[in-house]
Amino acid sequence: MREKVARELDGVTHVTAAGGRLRGLAALTTATVEEARRRHDTHPTATAALGRTITATAMLAAGMKNSDKVMTEILGDGPLGGIVAEVDAFGKARGYVQNPHVHLPLNKKGKLDVAGAVGKGKFCVTKDFGLREPYRGVVPLISGEIAEDFAYYLSTSEQTPSATALGVLVDPDHSVRAAGGILIQLLPGAAEDHGLVEELERRIASMPMLSRAIDNGVRPIDLLYGVLEGLQPKTLEHRPLTFSCSCSKERFGRGLVALGEAELKDIIDKDGSAELVCHFCNESYHFTHEELESLLDEARK
Ligand code: ZN
Repeated sequence: MREKVARELDGVTHVTAAGGRLRGLAALTTATVEEARRRHDTHPTATAALGRTITATAMLAAGMKNSDKVMTEILGDGPLGGIVAEVDAFGKARGYVQNPHVHLPLNKKGKLDVAGAVGKGKFCVTKDFGLREPYRGVVPLISGEIAEDFAYYLSTSEQTPSATALGVLVDPDHSVRAAGGILIQLLPGAAEDHGLVEELERRIASMPMLSRAIDNGVRPIDLLYGVLEGLQPKTLEHRPLTFSCSCSKERFGRGLVALGEAELKDIIDKDGSAELVCHFCNESYHFTHEELESLLDEARK
């Protein structure tokens, strides 16, 4: 096994090119996906599916401000069950997969069989801009490999023709060696330029496999600049990305109070104490009998 070298920190870089007619995003997500794997103990196929979803969501969050956040839900009928990822404007990412211990035999191409583990279903994106109603877009899964589904969502639901590559490379010891993504979007004025579209398609097709390239020390932003060579690419912004969850014991306590007096009393009588686990980060919070009694007092107020 090769030595794991110290790596660049995770982040998403936002690029513009072709006089503003192209938008590009490059995401390095190795440490974030590895932290998700470690927390949820995902097996390789589940790691790839969750890692691709987190990476796509991190790119969707580019350009968000203040308390904005975006959530992707992949609701398939395969053995993984649902996959959920959420990223906010500060690059805090969290996510989980319903059945983390899923690992299928490699597919015909010798790759992790993400499509087989996801199955058929829906690709849903919820963008919360702090308005009364969050924006929600839903498209059917067209492949289950997630990158194709993500591009299809952007092209249809957000009406922005897009090409994307998402990659997660899992080590034989199950840890994440490399993860990242690239997204290129045609903004108004680009889609009509057939010469430009064909040239981009040709360059994207000849790009090396993303996760291998990252593992070999090539940054996603270098690959993106390679695809956009000669089109005056310009970096607009770079945001760090980390796995981070907003849960806390206090929040779970408030949730228990919100259950109401009767239900809380029922928990105390039946179980004595409570152990609550956060779906998003798998952190568990223990409430002793005394703590539950004091929450019950609050619920009575
Ligand atoms: Zn959490």
